Amino acid sequence: MPKWGTMEKQILVQVAFNFPGEQDFSYILPPELAGIAQIGQRVSVPFANRRLIGYLSAIHTPKPENDIQLKSVMEILDPEPLLDAHSLQLAKWIGEYYCCPWGMVLESFLPPGLKGKTILRPKQQKYYQLALTRIEAESRCLELRAPRQVQLIRLLLERDTPVSAEELRDQGEFSPSALQGLLEKKIIEVFEREKLPQVYYGRDAASKTRPSPTASQQKALERIREGLEQNKFVCLLLHGVTGSGKTEVYLQAVEQVLQRGKQALILVPEIALTPQLVERFRSRFGERIGLLHSQMNKRERLWEWQRLRQGIAAVGIGVRSAILAPLPYLGLIVVDEEHETSFKQDKMPRYHARDVAVMRAKMLNIPVIIGSATPSLESYYNTQNGKAGLIHMPERIQGSSLPEVIALDLRGQKGVEPPLFAPQLKDALNDRLQKGEQSLLFLNRRGHYSFALCKECGQCVKCPQCSVSLTYHSHGHVQRCHYCDYIAEPLTECPQCKGALLSYAGLGTQRLEKEVQALFPQARVMRMDRDSTRGKNAHWDFFAALKNKEVDIILGTQMIAKGLDFPGITLVGVIAADLILNFPDFRAAEHTFQLLTQVVGRAGRGESAGLAIIQTFLPDHYSIQAACRHDYQGFYQSEMHYRRDLGYPPFYRLTNLLLRSKDQDLPGRTARQLVNYLSRAKIEGLRVLGANQAPLSMLRGEYRWQVLIKAPSTAVIRQGVNKALEFWRKEQLPSRLRLDIDVDAISLL
Ligand code: ADP
Ligand code: ZN
Repeated sequence: MPKWGTMEKQILVQVAFNFPGEQDFSYILPPELAGIAQIGQRVSVPFANRRLIGYLSAIHTPKPENDIQLKSVMEILDPEPLLDAHSLQLAKWIGEYYCCPWGMVLESFLPPGLKGKTILRPKQQKYYQLALTRIEAESRCLELRAPRQVQLIRLLLERDTPVSAEELRDQGEFSPSALQGLLEKKIIEVFEREKLPQVYYGRDAASKTRPSPTASQQKALERIREGLEQNKFVCLLLHGVTGSGKTEVYLQAVEQVLQRGKQALILVPEIALTPQLVERFRSRFGERIGLLHSQMNKRERLWEWQRLRQGIAAVGIGVRSAILAPLPYLGLIVVDEEHETSFKQDKMPRYHARDVAVMRAKMLNIPVIIGSATPSLESYYNTQNGKAGLIHMPERIQGSSLPEVIALDLRGQKGVEPPLFAPQLKDALNDRLQKGEQSLLFLNRRGHYSFALCKECGQCVKCPQCSVSLTYHSHGHVQRCHYCDYIAEPLTECPQCKGALLSYAGLGTQRLEKEVQALFPQARVMRMDRDSTRGKNAHWDFFAALKNKEVDIILGTQMIAKGLDFPGITLVGVIAADLILNFPDFRAAEHTFQLLTQVVGRAGRGESAGLAIIQTFLPDHYSIQAACRHDYQGFYQSEMHYRRDLGYPPFYRLTNLLLRSKDQDLPGRTARQLVNYLSRAKIEGLRVLGANQAPLSMLRGEYRWQVLIKAPSTAVIRQGVNKALEFWRKEQLPSRLRLDIDVDAISLL
């Protein structure tokens, strides 16, 4: 191995790997590879007696300070970088902002299944198309005496796109002699291209008509046109209820983009729950769409990835990770249902797809549209401080009005423990059963946590400093705040009114199903949750059963709160709004408002007016009141007060430092040392909340502790994270202890 200094002209490079760690590694670039090396290429290098694949992150780098022996790059795997300059720039930003090693970020830009040296090449296939204009071809049909040849011409005329040999064979129209004859007469031509895998784009919707835009749609489209014409970054929030015409804006904006020969990228929270959106795009843009989601197999995803990268597909539609897809001619990004928490990646790099979308649009000077009926506070705040434009679309374009919503006070109600059905809800269900109308019952269950609330005053015990519900830990019978280190004595009665306490522990959809069936033995009940919808197409069977009125009462979790329209449903019952409201998260009120608004909107989509009944111990809480009045503004104002007072986003940035290990004592001990180290550093503006066990204190065999830090600016957060990394280096912690950095953390479980 040559040592630095013995060969002056050596070129040094940096290689980034897909594993946690801070820095890239230096290697020697052999002269024969010097001519072809480019940043972003994958390389094969020796690493600790193994051969690893990494990414060239810098070329012509200075000699490292320590005088270690450098090894040489063995091979360059990609003739040219898989990522273009823009994607590399975006990857750099993600790595820096979300504090993730570049190698890990780059890996997430590539489709799964891209491991070895060459990209999987789809099979080549012969395609036939007309070589004449339609009119010429039609007149040739009249002249020709060969019926098989005429038949082929007619088929090509009808299809208007190239037809593959395989398709002809499938349809019984494959005739080598007829094809040969047409080729010789130069009526058709043949070419080879890659065979398309059978990717499901959704069924063709019936209507291809394009309505003329309403005034607010027109306003949105004008802003987008301006951005496109002037190569300008524009961020536009469409705030409108379901049915207010947001999707139509997306469609027509994409049309504008395609007319300019550019590509568009549409992000949705979950493909399975947005089949209508996909079908509408499919019906407008046909084969020009490319789909990217996790229900596709690796080969299909790779194929779509390549079609987008080569510009064959012009409209990419996908979930979270699609924001990293290669679209070299990108002209517009759309993020639908931008408030959905599934846009935040839950492993490194822990990026937020909506925020990456905005950054990507900024870097490219193109417009980005984000849409929601219940925008996140972060996004709405941006429209108030001038960072984004706002288009209000308050009304449904056609048909039904919003349902009547009642908050039903559970305080002092007697009945099953905890009350599952207050008398009014029971009566309303009975009434719908008699009329032959459908009802939906919603029970939110997320994670396993428990809290205690007072049956008399409805309050739940909160942390005095963080205003977050305390989590009850059966181990040691303590109640703790998992944001800071506050621990309360176990309670037997309400500290405020001495009322009896109630816990929802153990309540789930299965139990609810049993209770409903016992109350209404004649009703046809269907349960929809993660357990009952395991199969790939289970959703569709459920939806079909609902549509065909084979079900009287559907009950379930978040899964039934979103997505499709069920016109037969006239009653929505929320069993326990308190389960959402008392979730140990500072965003609990926001999620309550969002979920209630969403689930309440399932009622009365058809001709009959809808009714929604929300059972709660806190009927006067602003998030529940605002949901009853369909009042986003009111909710926003109240919630912003609370966020400002307690220093939460969007006023402060919040980052979670999560320590995990199979070793029981290690995370807690280290977390406390880390808190001390950070506090001693006295970084101006940085607040270190304390070390505490995560609510999911054990996950996949690992014990978990967390340290939350917050600051008014990203720069200060970054200083804090750097200090934490410095601590990690200095302490030389064992590798069985891991640190996950979650910048702008959403889920604090
Ligand atoms: P959202 O995405 O906000 O739920 P959609 O774009 O799906 O709203 O619009 C709701 C319905 O109204 C759809 O059936 C759509 O085709 C129709 N629609 C949208 N815009 C118009 C318009 N300008 N004129 C007539 N119908 C429209
Ligand atoms: Zn606290």
